[in-house]
Amino acid sequence: MSDPVNSTLDSLEYRTEVKQLLDILAHSLYTDREIFLRELISNASDALNRVQFEMLTNHEVVDPERELAIHIEVDPDAKVITIRDSGIGMNRDELIENLGTIAHSGARTFLQNASKGPGALEEIIGQFGVGFYSVFMVAEEVTVISRSYRPQDAAARWQSKGDSRFSLGTAEKEDRGTEIRIQLKEDAGEFASTWRLESIIKKHSDYVSFPIYLKAQEDKEEGKVVNRRTALWRQSPSSVEADQYTEFYKQLTFDDQPPLLHVHLVADAPANVRSILYVPSRRERGALRMQPEYGLHLYSRKVLIQNHNRDLLPEYLRFVEGVVDSEDLPLNVSRETVQSNPITRQLRKALTNRLLKELKTLSEQDTEKYITFWHEFGIFLKEGVAMDMASRDQLVDLLRFHSTRTGPDAWVTLREYVERMQPDQKVIYYVVGDSLKSVMRSPHLDYFRKHDLEVLFLADPIDGFMVSSLREYGEKQLQNVDDANLDLPETPAKEEDVESVPDDAFDKLVERVKQVLGDRIRAVREGKTLVDSPARLVSPDDDTARDLQYIRRVLEENYVAPAKVLELNRHHPTVTSLARLVETDEQNELIDPVIEQLFDNLQLLEGAYSGSPADMVERIQRLMAAALRQ
Ligand code: ADP
Ligand code: MG
Repeated sequence: MSDPVNSTLDSLEYRTEVKQLLDILAHSLYTDREIFLRELISNASDALNRVQFEMLTNHEVVDPERELAIHIEVDPDAKVITIRDSGIGMNRDELIENLGTIAHSGARTFLQNASKGPGALEEIIGQFGVGFYSVFMVAEEVTVISRSYRPQDAAARWQSKGDSRFSLGTAEKEDRGTEIRIQLKEDAGEFASTWRLESIIKKHSDYVSFPIYLKAQEDKEEGKVVNRRTALWRQSPSSVEADQYTEFYKQLTFDDQPPLLHVHLVADAPANVRSILYVPSRRERGALRMQPEYGLHLYSRKVLIQNHNRDLLPEYLRFVEGVVDSEDLPLNVSRETVQSNPITRQLRKALTNRLLKELKTLSEQDTEKYITFWHEFGIFLKEGVAMDMASRDQLVDLLRFHSTRTGPDAWVTLREYVERMQPDQKVIYYVVGDSLKSVMRSPHLDYFRKHDLEVLFLADPIDGFMVSSLREYGEKQLQNVDDANLDLPETPAKEEDVESVPDDAFDKLVERVKQVLGDRIRAVREGKTLVDSPARLVSPDDDTARDLQYIRRVLEENYVAPAKVLELNRHHPTVTSLARLVETDEQNELIDPVIEQLFDNLQLLEGAYSGSPADMVERIQRLMAAALRQ
């Protein structure tokens, strides 16, 4: 490649974020530098997909007959690798825009995490790549010469050493597409070998759907195609080996972990569909996907129509990866019309059904694996129960709960719960809180524990959201145990010899508590369901939105929950002593702080304490001092 002598060679500065990225990459000790090739091939493949899509409707393109392919050439002596594609190409402005700023979402995440230390960076380079710029891990200098598919656009040339600048000029290039010439760094000479490149391509890019030709520069022939190129999803499931699914997954997603589950759907009615869907093994990757990048690859007759289609699965299944190919989608569909196409709706139904069925089978046949799934993605299914009426019936049996019977280590389904309900039990009980620890200690559970009534623990912020739309399972209502008017199967048996606060003393105590707590509580009354706890807070009947408190507390900064009813346990030693003190020594300076603390304890257990820790510590110290004085 000779330097074109021209006067329009401009030198431009990279955007700041690119400079930062390049600086980190240049100094990174990342050992798997080979992924630069995966990134460049993936860009070439994107460019080929785009021109293929363009040509469906536009015949005014440069080189319409040219084979859609990638050619890689190696010069071992000069330590140069050249990668050519016949893709969509870039004009001068596009070169500046695409290779001077940060387009790649992996690269953006990379920069955000740059401060978290080398471990985080390595993981991102490995799993997501950092796009085009990863070439500077191995390149001394990179030259890109590109000719856009638009006949009127001139070819252009971009060049950079990966420092703070790049230069732009004109170029001679007759054919459509992009050519990237990499002058390797001194210490990256190992990559100037066809043997090495072939093994990297097989490892990371085997399923790229366009042929990748590879040859050494001195070879006169065209080079041989080194990638497998199979559209795995178009094969019959019985002919695909398990590790082919895994390899395809890794190459599709760049995830280095195998998927937890795959589903291969081949059907011709009601709609033609060839699809492979994957459930990844970890959600952690999903956190990076919080960027609007999720979605399935949608093909029609092997032409990629969309990279991230979101219409083929309900939103709550956004953690699912995969490919969908349907010959029933018209080839010239625009991305917008995919959404409104009736075929899309049919496909979505078929895919969702199949995936949920597969999860059900997993839950029945491999409990341990299903629980792994549940830990990672259960929250998405809960979201589905809350948001997606169409899937609800299938989703409810996929839910898993901890309960008063399972404890924190085992799980129960709604079906199992109902099957083992007490004979006279009418409803499904649950307790809501902001952590498993606090719901397990909830004073609401006293009665249920004593009577061996199972209560489900709901401790995810999304749980309240879920139960407020899932009001029943089968014929059974779901009921919060903090309900003020629980219709309990029987009243708790009181042991005769337990001391109880007499009526008039109790009335006085109630008055005093009301006076101290004021409008922080709605009312004070006797709690008949309490056994081991001195008190509890119950929601008044009219507080219909209380299950949403936990999620609102997460979402709204200044959220204040509506006041509740305070119930006191007339048999609890703290309450009996307090009542006695109010009756015999109402000036006692311990009374008010004890009432305050009793109330705050309940708020703490519910994860709803909004007061100041300093105030509480001061009060506790006063109470401790008094206790020690006795
Ligand atoms: P990403 O591929 O995630 O968008 P990259 O950093 O890999 O990010 O690439 C940046 C952009 O450069 C691409 O989005 C694309 O527009 C352009 N690009 C890179 N390589 C090519 C190529 N071979 N042909 C056409 N465009 C390309
Ligand atoms: Mg890319």
